[in-house]
Amino acid sequence: MPAQKKSEYVFPTDERGRKAVIDIRDITKTYKMGDIEVQALRGVSLKVFEGEFISIMGPSGSGKSTMLQILGALDQPTSGEYYLDGVNVAKLKDTELAVIRNKKIGFVFQSFNLLRRTTAQRQVELPLIYAGASNRAKRARAALESVELGDRLNHLPSELSGGQQQRVAIARAIINDPAIILADEPTGNLDSHSGTEVLKIFQKLNREKGITTVFVTHDAFVARHTDRVIMLRDGEIVADRAVANPIEAGTVERPSEAAELESIFKEAYAPTEKVAS
Ligand code: ADP
Ligand code: MG
Repeated sequence: MPAQKKSEYVFPTDERGRKAVIDIRDITKTYKMGDIEVQALRGVSLKVFEGEFISIMGPSGSGKSTMLQILGALDQPTSGEYYLDGVNVAKLKDTELAVIRNKKIGFVFQSFNLLRRTTAQRQVELPLIYAGASNRAKRARAALESVELGDRLNHLPSELSGGQQQRVAIARAIINDPAIILADEPTGNLDSHSGTEVLKIFQKLNREKGITTVFVTHDAFVARHTDRVIMLRDGEIVADRAVANPIEAGTVERPSEAAELESIFKEAYAPTEKVAS
């Protein structure tokens, strides 16, 4: 029998021909604590295509953080495969994971994670310094301009509002041209005005620059600003829906009633129930 070359990874594409930047296949994650095993993910498969803007939602304990850790190449699954922009992440060692993470992923956290005594421009330059890139000052300025902070280059975090600080973090996340942005409750620490300002920037970057963006959030109103919602429950995907009419940030007041919010997502929360019409 002729020796067969191990098959190369073929990028799955969607109906519009966009390739899958995230391609996870039957991922499980089991945490062991002494004799006790917790199955945090029970066979999750998901493709996120270039240019998509999605939210991962789910109640507490459903596996969101675990999913984020794996998608962010911060942790390895117990079983299953993960191709991040074509790279088989499950095969990588810790040092290689760190490299992939720096190259392919821009992280945005709920608490901004900025350095206190460092100017906006410098914060954004840091990933370029680690990457040994040139033209750092110019690129950092351009990134800050793209988040509408071109006039705040020399400000310290303490001199910026929460929304502005989060926009510095977004500029830092996009500076290395990552394949995806992973944002963990990016508006969780912000008042609604600042939250809107940050959502506007994410929408602009996604639409104008085609930046693939994944939110992890328990906030249905925030998720309504994205194009697709994945619902997790007990470590499984129970719904995967296009958002019918994503909200244009700033055009809709946050509904005050929880019930109103829930009705927006009724279908996603109860995907298997058939409603008699
Ligand atoms: P979520 O972020 O949606 O609240 P998590 O991914 O944090 O969900 O948790 C999913 C399940 O895995 C929960 O039952 C949780 O208790 C468990 N879990 C998460 N992290 C660990 C850990 N490091 N060790 C043990 N169990 C964990
Ligand atoms: Mg969590």
